[in-house]
Amino acid sequence: MRGAVLHAPGDVRLEARDDPTIVEPTDAIIRLSATCVCGSDLWPYRGIEAVQGPAPMGHEYVGIVEEVGSAVGTIKPGQFVIGSFWASDNTCEICQAGYQSSCIHRELMGTIGTQAELARIPLADGTLVATPDLPSADLIPSFLAASDVLGTGWFGAVAAEAGPGKTVAVVGDGAVGLLAVLAAKHLDAERIIAMSRHAPRQQLALEYGATDIVEERGGEGVARIKELTSGLGAHSVIEAVGTQESMMQAIRSTRPGGHVGYVGVLHDVELPGEEMFFSHVHLHGGPAPVRRFLPQLVDLIWNREIDPGKVFDLSLPLDEVAEGYRAMDERRAIKALLWP
Ligand SMILES: [Zn+2]
Repeated sequence: MRGAVLHAPGDVRLEARDDPTIVEPTDAIIRLSATCVCGSDLWPYRGIEAVQGPAPMGHEYVGIVEEVGSAVGTIKPGQFVIGSFWASDNTCEICQAGYQSSCIHRELMGTIGTQAELARIPLADGTLVATPDLPSADLIPSFLAASDVLGTGWFGAVAAEAGPGKTVAVVGDGAVGLLAVLAAKHLDAERIIAMSRHAPRQQLALEYGATDIVEERGGEGVARIKELTSGLGAHSVIEAVGTQESMMQAIRSTRPGGHVGYVGVLHDVELPGEEMFFSHVHLHGGPAPVRRFLPQLVDLIWNREIDPGKVFDLSLPLDEVAEGYRAMDERRAIKALLWP
């Protein structure tokens, strides 16, 4: 099969890789219908995260099951399936509590590399959710979004306790931030403030339910949020970037007693203890337990109630994976979809 491999920062190539095989009896093999480039793939691509190259890339996937191991019971060959970037058994105590991304048997899909034609999915019964039938082609981008960015934005909104009567602010206008706006809207937030200075992203935020746009960042962005909320700050703030500046912008935009849902992967962020102590702000986040939300998200997409696939503003054949990374690195694209 062919798959994307990162050799060094800025050097991603489509190469021949070994076809995956069933290793554990709980595995499935899927043929990818679509895959994509994630904002978090840019950390090693930019050399900010060390590259243990050559490394297979990609952790988002939807596809058709080709083969299952002897211990797989509910997932069947021929089904169209979606899974998250952590494989999980969905049965341990941590999974049952809704934290499948900390499953005691979890396996990171990024080490398997799903920017490829085929992929081995560990713990298939726990990891994968099948659609009721084969979806029409126009729904595939939305199901692919559910594999990570939609589920991650959703977790951010839930962790920030977005809901009726709440003012929600979203820091970050990447795919996760935009889909956090969609999630907050679906959770019936009263007011949704998208923080963005890019016109096409502002437009999509408004389509997804944002009521206000704030272009300022850092301290000025915080001041604007305070202005819009009678000086109090937002009830719920979703942090979808992961830098020191964005994390502090999120915390300082939150009112006392409010909640920050942080889902941008934090890099070199340090929190000031004394400021945290006096802020009365709740922090909850981490790698999103996307699997918790997948059945509901699959249902909403299948019934065409949400359209998260709009975040893919670039579609390329898998052969052009390098261009997908470049376009996202240079912020020419919000998110690049790859057709195997
Ligand atoms: Zn588990």
